[in-house]
Amino acid sequence: MFGVRAKFLSILLVIFLSVVALSLNIIYLVGDGMSFNQLLLASILEGRVLTTMTLPYTAITTTYSYDSWVTDSAPAGTALFSGFKTLNRAIGVFPNGEPITSIFEIAKNGGYKIGLAVTCRVTHATPASVYGHVSNRDDELTLAKQLAESGTVDVVFGGGWQWFLPTANGGRRTDGMNLIELMKQKGYEYVNSIDGLKSASSDKVLGLFAASHLEPVSSRPSSQPTLDLMTTKALEILSKSGEPFMLMVEGSQIDWEAHSNDFYGVWKETVEFDNAVKVALEFAKKDGNTLVIVTGDHETGGLSLSKGGYSINVELARKAKGTTQMFLSQYNISDKEKFVQGIKDWYGISISDAEYETLRKVSSSNLRRELARFVSEKVGFGWTTWDHTAAPVPVYAFGPGAQYFVGFMDNTDIPKLILKLTGLSTIKFPVVSAAGN
Ligand SMILES: [Zn+2]
Repeated sequence: MFGVRAKFLSILLVIFLSVVALSLNIIYLVGDGMSFNQLLLASILEGRVLTTMTLPYTAITTTYSYDSWVTDSAPAGTALFSGFKTLNRAIGVFPNGEPITSIFEIAKNGGYKIGLAVTCRVTHATPASVYGHVSNRDDELTLAKQLAESGTVDVVFGGGWQWFLPTANGGRRTDGMNLIELMKQKGYEYVNSIDGLKSASSDKVLGLFAASHLEPVSSRPSSQPTLDLMTTKALEILSKSGEPFMLMVEGSQIDWEAHSNDFYGVWKETVEFDNAVKVALEFAKKDGNTLVIVTGDHETGGLSLSKGGYSINVELARKAKGTTQMFLSQYNISDKEKFVQGIKDWYGISISDAEYETLRKVSSSNLRRELARFVSEKVGFGWTTWDHTAAPVPVYAFGPGAQYFVGFMDNTDIPKLILKLTGLSTIKFPVVSAAGN
């Protein structure tokens, strides 16, 4: 009798465990252009360990695309969200143009709620890799249509309403489509303000808070939300039904500040991203059935944490008052006296006549990044490029299954592990065991 009962209980346990395994929530956070040095720069300037760095399991991944060691965000997002390499500039399609199903689309079909929260346009490369399928990442007209028509993503937070509205309504759509109206008809609540975001109560919400990208966090107006606020709200909406969910969060602008070689911008954008990681981690700790994964899609800028001399002038760097974009919105290089004094006031740097003359000769379109590289190097941060690099990136994991995110991997391994751990695929992967078998 006891034996039958034990058998019955163990069957119940197996059923219970498989239901739990099937319902694992995923919060997948991507710092665009963020690798080890971007994180460590922010950590050094903050004078503290970032939340991201406290996650218990870490791996390292390569990021190369199908056709280059140096990926752009489109194939990087595709690799991270589908497990396949594709061509630079391609989103959610194989090199031959055939669509690849993303893990978010697989999860949606498996009964998951899907969300994304970003500080760029929701049709930009990384978020578009969640739901989109185009050969050219610039085709944001098509990506917005795919987002609206597919209904893959239940909670969409970010910028870029211009791609959802026809030109007659102040948007950039030349096909006359009003995708915001279409999504409302499909049951989405539409919000475009912080108050609207906070009070949104539907299961499906489209939140677009800017015509294009959100402003950089260093100069973002109070009318636009922070990434941690969007993450908090997305988690509230996605988790309320009790169904499993998969949320993608991107710190979109770490990359752009790194493209500009702006150490201050990288610092602040990385901290904003890390604040969203904190929200995710706190949710996962309370929930107990949520896997948090944090990674970068590639490194940007070839950032080095010294220009030599065995030092970084941390105290000087910490006193900086803003990005060089913010600086140049207030100071004109042709007004030498004010410009030189401005650099002293904003960055604590005394600029020589020769240095001023070199900067003055830079074209106005390049001045922002040349000035940013100049200021970076004065405080001890070096850069090798205005573009991306092939440097590997870290992966951090917390929660059920986090122990599999260890060692040297490829970016395509992450979604494969997620599919396995959520029970959404039967892909085999090595069993981690203390016995080593
Ligand atoms: Zn990127």
